[in-house]
Amino acid sequence: MITPVLPTYARAPLAFVEGQGPWLIDEKGDRYFDLGAGIAVNVLGHANPTLVSALEDQARRLWHTSNLYRIPNQEKLAELLVEHTFADTMFFTNSGAEAMECAIKMARKFHSHAGNPERFRVITFEGSFHGRTLATISAAGGEKLTKGFGPLLPGFDHAVYGDLESVKALIGPETAAIAIEPILGEGGIIQPERAFLKALREICDAEGLLLIMDEIQTGVGRTGKLFAHEWAGVTPDIMAIAKGIGGGFPLGACLATERAAAGMTAGTHGSTYGGNPLGCAVGVAVMETVTGPGFLEEVNRLAGALRQKLEGLISAHPTVLESVRGEGLMIGIRCKAANMDVVNAGYDARLLVVPAADNAIRLLPPLNITDAEIDEAMARLDAACVAVEAAQREAAG
Ligand SMILES: *Cc1c(COP(=O)(O)O)cnc(C)c1O
Repeated sequence: MITPVLPTYARAPLAFVEGQGPWLIDEKGDRYFDLGAGIAVNVLGHANPTLVSALEDQARRLWHTSNLYRIPNQEKLAELLVEHTFADTMFFTNSGAEAMECAIKMARKFHSHAGNPERFRVITFEGSFHGRTLATISAAGGEKLTKGFGPLLPGFDHAVYGDLESVKALIGPETAAIAIEPILGEGGIIQPERAFLKALREICDAEGLLLIMDEIQTGVGRTGKLFAHEWAGVTPDIMAIAKGIGGGFPLGACLATERAAAGMTAGTHGSTYGGNPLGCAVGVAVMETVTGPGFLEEVNRLAGALRQKLEGLISAHPTVLESVRGEGLMIGIRCKAANMDVVNAGYDARLLVVPAADNAIRLLPPLNITDAEIDEAMARLDAACVAVEAAQREAAG
């Protein structure tokens, strides 16, 4: 018999009822160390007092008015994001997929508004992930996402991630934009050369295309810069964000330059809930914290320390872990053992890590994790590796 909740997730049999910083507490009172942070969402940990009070203050005053009216928190958050990014303007959403939808619509509208409605195609990349709506699964294109859901939305051409020639081969008179995750998240924490992102920017400029960055997972300090594209020294024309910006409250946004947003006039796009007072109150508190003095420097220092410890664990457990990659606190470990064996051994060691493609696990800790907490997490990952080794020995007889 089908469960009351549609069974689209292969869930772990764990149910958490409380969180404290990097800790999650389950129904039995067991404490788990959370190295996944709700898939890169809880950037300031669980039940962060600053975020709780921002939400509580707003919750006592006003929850929802709709976008029929001005929303002061929304304007404040937009001003903060404009101040700290390439963007001049933005549209608020409730999720990442909606932010990417807006990005795709905006790119099409840009060309149609400029008198080139035939330019509607977007070059995207194999192995990428942009959300689960029809447009965003069409954009990503992978069989796992799209099978059985056709016909898909036309207008996406899939290049090979990191391969410039494959991008160039797809550009034609109908091409409107290139959309890319600066680091593949669900795809296994795969990073292209910085020169690749630079080259995409150059191609976009030369061909009159818009560059769309999907920074839904990489953004808001995760990689040690406020946004990952800063590492490559290039800026997009349009950027989708979500996950970290709400610190756990559903919130996303599609940021753009004034030029790219030219066609998005009153009545062209909308959302009932997008940019509601509650989400934006939390978003402002997240932005103020992450852009505060020394915050990102500390993320980079912690990332270096964690990375060093992970190299040690990889050397100590060569039959379980293979290599580490990623940027800042967006870390992927390619496993030698099956990645789900490591994830499950983690559960037994009361440690939460997130699987990804390419037999990887992801470590996406809260950005305000401490050195002592990193040591605690590494002790648990070590214990999980020891357990996987024991199972390997048993299987070998
Ligand atoms: C999570 C994610 C999305 C989708 O966000 P939702 O909030 O689940 O719709 C899109 N792109 C990337 C890169 C993501 O990591």
